[in-house]
Amino acid sequence: MPLQLTLVELADQLASGALSSRQLTQSCLDRIAQVDPVVHAFLKVDAADALAQADAADAERARPGAAGGKPLLGIPIGIKDVIAVKGHSLTCGSKILGDFVSPYDATVIEKLRAAGAVILGRLNMDEFAMGSSTENSAFVTTRNPWDLTRIPGGSSGGSAAAVAALELPATLGSDTGGSIRQPAAFCGCVGLKPTYGLVSRYGLVAFASSLDQIGPFTRDVRDAARMMNVLCGHDSRDSTSLPRPVPDYEKALGGTLKGMKIGLAREFMVGGLDPAVKVAVDAAVSQLESLGAEMVEVSLPHSEYGVAVYYIIATAEASANLARFDGVRYGKRVEGIDPIQMYEKTRGLGFGPEVKRRIILGTYVLSSGYYDAFYLRAQKVRTLIRQDFLKAFETVDAIVSPTTPTAAFRAGEKTDDPLQMYLSDIFTISANLAGIPGMSIPCGFTQSPKLPIGLQLLGKPFGEETMLKIAHAYEQSTGWHHQHPVL
Ligand code: GLN
Repeated sequence: MPLQLTLVELADQLASGALSSRQLTQSCLDRIAQVDPVVHAFLKVDAADALAQADAADAERARPGAAGGKPLLGIPIGIKDVIAVKGHSLTCGSKILGDFVSPYDATVIEKLRAAGAVILGRLNMDEFAMGSSTENSAFVTTRNPWDLTRIPGGSSGGSAAAVAALELPATLGSDTGGSIRQPAAFCGCVGLKPTYGLVSRYGLVAFASSLDQIGPFTRDVRDAARMMNVLCGHDSRDSTSLPRPVPDYEKALGGTLKGMKIGLAREFMVGGLDPAVKVAVDAAVSQLESLGAEMVEVSLPHSEYGVAVYYIIATAEASANLARFDGVRYGKRVEGIDPIQMYEKTRGLGFGPEVKRRIILGTYVLSSGYYDAFYLRAQKVRTLIRQDFLKAFETVDAIVSPTTPTAAFRAGEKTDDPLQMYLSDIFTISANLAGIPGMSIPCGFTQSPKLPIGLQLLGKPFGEETMLKIAHAYEQSTGWHHQHPVL
């Protein structure tokens, strides 16, 4: 079975009987056994469980009329280790969760199961999704399949690497400040962060609740649209989930870009941009023009404060969310002579250095005396950032930018300098602060070494259909997504 087939192509082969889910799932397991010892995308693979699900999918397909309406029947999907799957380990890349096993399925997992998917494996990530390289995983650093000396990005590095290394056709990640789009760019796959409130967060371990969204990694844009059809929808168990009808995102694909206006953010095309990234994005802009779109320069004047605002709001929310890991309720406990010492030892030994840094920062910006100066002010600037986008979207249908200022960096290159690490998310963070959708699609490569470059598309709130349509037109006219790393 050709491993580079897309999810939609695989679904067609399963439907026609050319392929069984057992064959497909076994091929994925074989590929994982072959390449994951060097890629390290997975924290855990339960082959017997995956094959049992595959057999159930094949049995279901064999029943007359039963397969109708199940768009992912028999397709293996990998899950970032921050999303709850009943009976599976849920570590969030942290030692503090010990050997915690989830007692329930996240809503997105229920939806994937209802669509017929085979849930396969736990994917590596930065601890509690804090990081941009997976080097903050307490267990292992995932490697970039294009160059094993480099990182795959983060925090959903395992999810991106598994798709790029042809281990799985699609995976789920989470994006709080770029954790889907940045690793998708570094690994050369498609990654989509939906509008805040479109996909349920129930069963997603919270990092920064006002920013977190779950989204798919796929080989191409059509696959992302199909995944969105399955993942989206109102959920009463997530109070920020919005009651809106879910469109058919696949139907939005195709047609011309004539009459579309696409914004190029002035502030995103300056300083610190790697020349190869600039060349690739400039060429993508020309390509979009040749497809009929009109390019318009837009201004997002407050985006320069995005990283600063993010590291106040995200750390504040994280410090509150991570208070629950205290040795009493979940996972690991390190005994002490009294409860206070037990908390201190559990948290001191259980959390890694980056998570501790975030908790300390977040507690500081929320503390009395500093709350107004930092947290409240950051919330006000967050509103200004959102208003910049809404104003730009009065004239344009979508905005393009580089996803990242550079291609994937070397393992160890930024580990001693947290600020440099934070700056690799400079183009992705604003979308989370504004709550708008964003995606990264491949738009070229650096020369030597050959590393993928990502084009970021940002849409209006709930503008996923337009964003996907533009991404699809670009992708189909260029074909970057057909290139795969040699492992
Ligand atoms: N890299 C950013 C951070 O470290 C974003 C992480 C994310 O989106 N989960 O917080």
